[in-house]
Amino acid sequence: MGNDFDLYRLSEEHDMLRETVRALAEAKITPFAAAVDEEARFPQEALEALVAADLQAVHVPESYGGAGADALATVIVIEEVARACGSSSLIPAVNKLGSLPVILSGSEELKKKYLAPLARGEAMFSYCLSEPDAGSDAAGMKTRAVRDGDFWVLNGVKRWITNAGVSEYYTVMAVTDPEKRSKGISAFVVEKSDEGVSFGAPEKKLGIKGSPTREVYLDNVRIPADRMIGAEGTGFATAMKTLDHTRITIAAQAIGIAQGALDYAKGYVQERKQFGKPIADFQGVQFMLADMAMKLEAARQLTYAAAAKSERVDSDLTFFGAAAKCFASDVAMEVTTDAVQLLGGYGYTRDYPVERMMRDAKITQIYEGTNQVQRIVMARNLP
Ligand SMILES: Cc1cc2nc3c(=O)[nH]c(=O)nc-3n(C[C@H](O)[C@H](O)[C@H](O)COP(=O)(O)OP(=O)(O)OC[C@H]3O[C@@H](n4cnc5c(N)ncnc54)[C@H](O)[C@@H]3O)c2cc1C
Repeated sequence: MGNDFDLYRLSEEHDMLRETVRALAEAKITPFAAAVDEEARFPQEALEALVAADLQAVHVPESYGGAGADALATVIVIEEVARACGSSSLIPAVNKLGSLPVILSGSEELKKKYLAPLARGEAMFSYCLSEPDAGSDAAGMKTRAVRDGDFWVLNGVKRWITNAGVSEYYTVMAVTDPEKRSKGISAFVVEKSDEGVSFGAPEKKLGIKGSPTREVYLDNVRIPADRMIGAEGTGFATAMKTLDHTRITIAAQAIGIAQGALDYAKGYVQERKQFGKPIADFQGVQFMLADMAMKLEAARQLTYAAAAKSERVDSDLTFFGAAAKCFASDVAMEVTTDAVQLLGGYGYTRDYPVERMMRDAKITQIYEGTNQVQRIVMARNLP
């Protein structure tokens, strides 16, 4: 039956990791979070702090120079960074999203070449699936890759690419056989410095303003054939398999943002006085906080269970990945909105962090598949 004392709780290593990341985030990321949002600029301070502590891509296996953190540890890192700054949490999250196709399906040479610089903090990795006319219907993409001897030539436009322009490496899904729809899509590693790669203007967004979101233009980008990830025609399957794992990191981002908002609101209601006493004394306020904490904990437990399934690659991972992302992001939207409510008029201003957290939370219901798409995925993979 195993050791009763270890039944259903995090290991000491996971608890210690949380403490470390929380301390780092509070000291080096929180102080810049408001400015990063206000100025819509990349959180360079966060990147430097994460790289200095080897936390920018903890998922990279030890055999490729990484920390070899398990899926739960990766979730904890993202959660704690997101508690301080949603934009900054996309550094570890998208480094995993961009590189996981290589880890799951890439050749030994690709892994060696691209994972080591990521683990050293010398390069970031982005993931290019979406296009202007292919969002939820990602298999309807138009970006083409055509074979030319020992090379592939890529042409097309990828849209909404997180950390585009900052990342050195890009996993790009492109059509290699238009007859076969999803089975005619292949994945490639494209480098920022490849001739013919360029970027659109940063999108002007509601939230996660510190995380650059840009179009990626591929104009006759000629890359060696060995940059293909896995076999020809397997790119879409790899892209979807990747999302099974990384939707859990979006759930982590969502619960981190929500925890940041709850923590702030919890402190505020004890200080703010109306009717001669702290508003925390009103049962109506207490009930709101209780509901927020209850929902958030349920989301966290589902996310951690999903992370364990990701680590073990359980057969019900697809359901759990979608469920964790969908549930945690809906909870994050509710909790952050309630946090704004608990601060009253002050919550509605940029003088307090909770409106930023509410704006940042919204994206978690949209990317890596909207929550409608998650429900489609869950319905097709009911446990
Ligand atoms: C800030 C940001 C960062 C992003 N980062 C990345 C990235 O790094 N890499 C990447 O590849 N993509 C990225 N995306 C793209 C994101 O994954 C897509 O925006 C998302 O998948 C939705 O696609 P769409 O925007 O085209 O919406 P659409 O697919 O046009 O959806 C519009 C609405 O229709 C609904 N809908 C669509 N189809 C159905 C259906 N069958 N049933 C029910 N409802 C449906 C959707 O749920 C949504 O509410 C990012 C997006 C944003 C905004």
